[in-house]
Amino acid sequence: MAYLGTPTATAEIIRKYNFCFQKKYGQNFLIDANILQKIVASAEITREDCVIEIGPGIGSLTQYLAESAGSVIAVEIDKKLIPILEETLGDYDNVTIINEDILKVDIRKLSEERNGGRPVKVVANLPYYITTPIIMGLFESHAPLQSMTVMVQKEVADRMQVGPGTKDYGALSLAVQYYAEPEIAMNVPPACFMPRPGVGSAVIRLTGRREKPVEVRDERLLFSVIRAAFNQRRKTLANALANAPVLAGDGGRHVTVAREKVYEALDQMQLSRTIRGEALTLDQFARLSGLL
Ligand code: SAM
Repeated sequence: MAYLGTPTATAEIIRKYNFCFQKKYGQNFLIDANILQKIVASAEITREDCVIEIGPGIGSLTQYLAESAGSVIAVEIDKKLIPILEETLGDYDNVTIINEDILKVDIRKLSEERNGGRPVKVVANLPYYITTPIIMGLFESHAPLQSMTVMVQKEVADRMQVGPGTKDYGALSLAVQYYAEPEIAMNVPPACFMPRPGVGSAVIRLTGRREKPVEVRDERLLFSVIRAAFNQRRKTLANALANAPVLAGDGGRHVTVAREKVYEALDQMQLSRTIRGEALTLDQFARLSGLL
């Protein structure tokens, strides 16, 4: 099978199947063999690995993954791409295609069923419209993820690495800090995709941390507090948190926090009652969620 990740091969498949790119699914296919190889090299894929690919498209990256990995599970939402993938990946017996929305897939169960609960690697050229929910969902799934090597919008890659006080600082930066070590593998210009996206891209590798940088009793509460703080980032932290439903405990109960309780916690931490969420470090969010 010839490689699909070139302008001519991709155009040929598109024509053959009369395929229309769906903007709503963030379909920008890679047409640069060099970039495709570099993604697989950055993910350090070997025959020992089980890879989950999100959004295989016509299978351009999947081919390279199948050639290096032990097995590949490719999850694609667009049912029009399934017959195409069945043809383009027909020669590989280590690829499983699943026609599902990744946001609805139980990744932990999938890795349990397909890889006996051993660590899996995620590799993807992500659909940009849902980058944050996909990455947060993967972190919070508590699936055994060894690493994620993903193409994202350049701006989002930058957002993953910033600290308090910058406009890009948010729930994603804090989640990355808590769960992973980020490393930008390369920047990728729009010309490497068909059709070309209106933004620059970057491949970022997130390697799971062995030890968390802060200790918390309830991770779910921590990220629920962080989300509530940034959902209304113009408000003070006390206003954003007061009466916002936050999740707590293993059963995921919704509880509300009284403003007085937030004030008390801020006083104890010697922080101003009018501080905004964007000024707090991960450490401070951890302490705050503990006090709440
Ligand atoms: N991997 C291919 C490549 O690099 O050429 C395609 C990447 S394209 C940027 C994103 C892919 O994700 C598309 O194939 C799109 O249909 C798929 N996709 C979009 N939303 C999805 C979702 N919620 N679940 C699974 N796949 C999705």
